[in-house]
Amino acid sequence: MKDSASVAERVFDEGEVVGVLTTEPLGRLLDYKAPEGGCGTGDFVEVPLGPRRVLGVVWGKGEGRWDPAKVRPIARVLDARPMRAELRSFLTRAADYTLTPWPAMLRLATRAPGLFDPPSMRKVYRLAGPVPNRLTEARARVVEALRGWGGAAVTLRELAEAAGCGTGVVKGLVKLGVLAEEEAPKDTPYPPLNPAGLRALAGQQVAAADALVQATTAGEYQTFLLKGVTGSGKTEVYLEAVAECLRRGRQALVLLPEIALTADFLARVEARFGARPGEWHSGVTQTERRRLWKMCGEGGVELVVGARSALFLPFRDLGLIVVDEEHDTSYKQEEGVLYNARDMAVLRASICGCPVVLSSATPSLESWANAEAGKYLRLDLGARFGVAELPAMKAIDMRAESLAANRWISPTLARGVEARLERGEQALLFINRRGYAPVTLCRACGAQVGCDHCDARMVEHRFLKRLVCHQCGATKPVPQACPSCGVEGKMAAVGPGVERLAEEVAERFPKARLAVLSSDLFGSARALKEQIETIAAGAADIIIGTQIVAKGHNFPLLTLVGVIDADLGLQGSDLRAAERTFQLMRQVAGRAGRADRPGEAWLQTHQPEHPVIRAILGGDEEAFWRAEASERRAAGVPPYGRMAGIILSGPDVAQIFDLGGELARRAEPLLRAGAQVFGPAPAPIARVRGRHRVRLLVKAPKAVPLQPALAEWVAQVKIPANVRLAIDIDPQSF
Ligand code: ADP
Ligand code: ZN
Repeated sequence: MKDSASVAERVFDEGEVVGVLTTEPLGRLLDYKAPEGGCGTGDFVEVPLGPRRVLGVVWGKGEGRWDPAKVRPIARVLDARPMRAELRSFLTRAADYTLTPWPAMLRLATRAPGLFDPPSMRKVYRLAGPVPNRLTEARARVVEALRGWGGAAVTLRELAEAAGCGTGVVKGLVKLGVLAEEEAPKDTPYPPLNPAGLRALAGQQVAAADALVQATTAGEYQTFLLKGVTGSGKTEVYLEAVAECLRRGRQALVLLPEIALTADFLARVEARFGARPGEWHSGVTQTERRRLWKMCGEGGVELVVGARSALFLPFRDLGLIVVDEEHDTSYKQEEGVLYNARDMAVLRASICGCPVVLSSATPSLESWANAEAGKYLRLDLGARFGVAELPAMKAIDMRAESLAANRWISPTLARGVEARLERGEQALLFINRRGYAPVTLCRACGAQVGCDHCDARMVEHRFLKRLVCHQCGATKPVPQACPSCGVEGKMAAVGPGVERLAEEVAERFPKARLAVLSSDLFGSARALKEQIETIAAGAADIIIGTQIVAKGHNFPLLTLVGVIDADLGLQGSDLRAAERTFQLMRQVAGRAGRADRPGEAWLQTHQPEHPVIRAILGGDEEAFWRAEASERRAAGVPPYGRMAGIILSGPDVAQIFDLGGELARRAEPLLRAGAQVFGPAPAPIARVRGRHRVRLLVKAPKAVPLQPALAEWVAQVKIPANVRLAIDIDPQSF
């Protein structure tokens, strides 16, 4: 591994003025004087800011805009590896692309808690003694939370947070002897991985792996689009590139879209490389995250598997990035700093000078188009590995099926499920709706129950015995009387959700063992993983699931997938609706027939002749992409044009519409650059948590450098303190 990383690039002598980027929302660089003993570029430092001390990184020479007599000295240089030039450059370029203030970007890169505390200050807690049968509710929650972490050492703050109680409750349990308080363990390197033992690849896998391995050896930037149906061996192929990266002594990063997928993946890495890699996501303890952050910088971890935020880790020598399921919308961070991890992975790889692999069975139109244009190198894996065939797909025309009221499984689909049960195989019924019923309305007056804080309907969850807002999480009891007209006993659940479908299945197939997979039914990623494992082992006959079943899980006995409502995603005006539906349906169908049994996927639809439905049913996939591409090109939207959304949110709807109107009137900087502005209009979700939201959309031809124009434009309007303005470059919906 290169060793330059441990040497600061430029040494400033005591008293020299340096520019420091802090994590506080204050412009860009602040001037400070180098402390006694000097400092270097990239050093982590603590600097005085008003009465406080805050974290910062020495970014370079000071700008000298202030009277040197007034510039304060850096309080102390922290005992950590300096941030490398590569990461600093990534942070500033990512910030400038997404129009994020630099300090907010630095916060993303320093998000391991207690990063710079000495170990003696970091106490951790674990279960020590017997747990008494009777505990107060809060204490019981603490014990429960610790068990959820499976015996890991957890800090005071995160334990209290997870249990939703004060820190005193934790301390009380220590006094009782139920918990032990210990000093945090030392941050030790991760066990080495063994990259030896090449897999015997087959068919198109060979050429694809060769290309990836070659690029990894060369250590040059290149984006690959690795495309192949589920089960074609994409993971197998990119793990060869990971192996090569490890042999070169460089670090590799694999991004996964969903925490629930990591357990499977970690097991696979362990089987392949003989040890577990570093793991980074919100389900990992703070102590472990801190260790991983440190080991990234010291080279004490060779492979990191993580969620999108792993992109901001301070790798010492990153040699390969993989973005698995690259089309997945959860790569887009929709709160705080708005970024798409897939695009940022490409940016970081280009700065590191290393290959990046975007892997998917159903690539995003963006990546497909970039491959068409020759910017990305496309590698195709055609068939499924071994004997497994892609499932045969067909539409069930719901116009020709007879269904009783409040029933959603057609006679045709029911017969298919029946046949699976007789053969001892599994069937999966997919419905992309959580809860019991999407609408609760009054049969007397027709009013629907909505959220008090959002523009969203409340969804009934029988499991919780409450109505839940899927926007903000607010809940309320199912009303006996209509909140609008007051008539009693007329409230009705309308439409199907996963829980209601489960009810129908239980009635129709009373002997079958059911498993319901919906993200909200599981308290933790661990519980979900256990459920998935028992299903894979054959503990269920019928699986009923929402979107989470579409993602990468492997059920060998599953031979029939039934999609309850294939038309669901096709409604609405979003230009991405077709792409989304296409991807989701193909992914779900890909769950069937992964092992030695052929699978089938049946789609219940009211519009079997819809072009998207026809494309899903195994028509010409490339033709679908080309048709989509030409529609987007005609509309001048991504990936054939640039786009940004400006969201104004605030408590007063008139105020934010006024501000939006003012922005629209002062569009001169945009127009001059060749961009257009639309709106203001209510945002796709017009009210969240009591805050109203309006949106303006900016559209520009590809050649327009949009960011500087946007920055100049929004700077003209003063945004009051009670309003938030967020700029969303490349919005997900338009
Ligand atoms: P994908 O990532 O495209 O869904 P995987 O890499 O998970 O596909 O491969 C699907 C299954 O086939 C896995 O169980 C994997 O171990 C197996 N497999 C794929 N290629 C090979 C190979 N060349 N040799 C042995 N097993 C393979
Ligand atoms: Zn709400």
